[in-house]
Amino acid sequence: MPISSGLNSEIIRVGIVLPEDKIQEITISWSAELELESNVPDLKAVQSISLVVEDDGISLKNLSNIATQSTITLACPDQVESLSTKYGFHIDSVVAGRGFHWEKRIEVDLPGKLDISIQDGFLKVINFVDVEAYVACVATSEMGSEAPSDLLAAQTVVARCWSLSLAEAKHLTDGYDVCNDDCCQRYQGTSYLTNHSLKAAIETHGEVLVYDEKVIDARYSKNCGGMVEAYETVWEGGEVPYLIPLWDGPEQKPGYAVDDFEMHYAYDEAYCSSKRFQKVNLSGMLGKVDVSGSYSRWEQVMTKADILKNLKKYTGLVWSSIDDIRIMERGPSARIKYLFLVGTDESGNKAEQMVKSEYGIRQMFSESFLYSSAFVIKNAETLGDDDHVVLRGVGWGHGVGLCQMGALGMALSHIGYKDILKHYYPGTRLTSLS
Ligand SMILES: [Zn+2]
Ligand SMILES: [Zn+2]
Repeated sequence: MPISSGLNSEIIRVGIVLPEDKIQEITISWSAELELESNVPDLKAVQSISLVVEDDGISLKNLSNIATQSTITLACPDQVESLSTKYGFHIDSVVAGRGFHWEKRIEVDLPGKLDISIQDGFLKVINFVDVEAYVACVATSEMGSEAPSDLLAAQTVVARCWSLSLAEAKHLTDGYDVCNDDCCQRYQGTSYLTNHSLKAAIETHGEVLVYDEKVIDARYSKNCGGMVEAYETVWEGGEVPYLIPLWDGPEQKPGYAVDDFEMHYAYDEAYCSSKRFQKVNLSGMLGKVDVSGSYSRWEQVMTKADILKNLKKYTGLVWSSIDDIRIMERGPSARIKYLFLVGTDESGNKAEQMVKSEYGIRQMFSESFLYSSAFVIKNAETLGDDDHVVLRGVGWGHGVGLCQMGALGMALSHIGYKDILKHYYPGTRLTSLS
């Protein structure tokens, strides 16, 4: 039986500059050696173009002899073997962390074909790129370039599975398969590629995990907190046989993290425990746009005034106070599935509001985005009188599937990438598509 996947081609379409970024001018540059092809004549003579949105199309600011175009294409070879650091088309201002508090503009270098057009009065840049080149770039964009080779190999296989399964497919109606950001997988082109990460991509070429002869939906997050979460805690659609709760450590203990949060908070044998990273340069092993820290155990204080502000922002409700927070259901890793805010509304009546989903909870309890929904309220006893809420939590991200920091901990303990993958996706089989 042939292995099936969601992506029907060896080329993946990545949204780089999106209409929502509201960008009307970009500069793209390249080296003189790049084997360039374009629908615009005479580009071989220059190494840079500035593109500006005009009423009748895209104008090339530095090439005034060329008429405005509706679409501009630029292409260069993109086989994984032809890549190197900063190879391809350089764009100096691409949005990273779209919509989050860490949103910023970064520089990217992109291999393959760029398709540049106008939508709703703003530029839209889609990168058509070979899947193997894409996953090599994603693996280094997701983790730091100093990451050990078994971690890079594991991350490369996982990125390939995620891309080929296209299980989330959030952007198909926008004309591309994935975006370049945390919403899908973080992709910064060849900007940070190293020989090390290229080697991981070439050595695992075409390798995927399959279940029932289908490429798996390989979810992953930054730090599970010590127990990997079940798929159905975070997303709709029921159980997924290989995305199940498990202890992220050398042995499977009885019970779940949710059974005793304080005991779990003290558990430091996990592969993703900060104890394992005391002697390494963690920042060199994490992605480039991350804030520093280990994210395994944390405390966060949020004022009730800020929660009221979020309540208004996300639900439209205007309340005068928060009197209680009732946690209703948690998944095995202790991530909260839903809770109730209890308070007083505008007219002085008692009110209740459900906050649904791991994502919704992380939005509600932070000015930007809370590390995870695996938390307890430390001042629960005095919450009625306090003007703030103290959250005591574990992990960063949804916690389902591969735990990136746990995989790092495993690789640092000299566990090979095949065993790392077997640990996080039980019951799956590693095979090669080629
Ligand atoms: Zn996306
Ligand atoms: Zn973990």
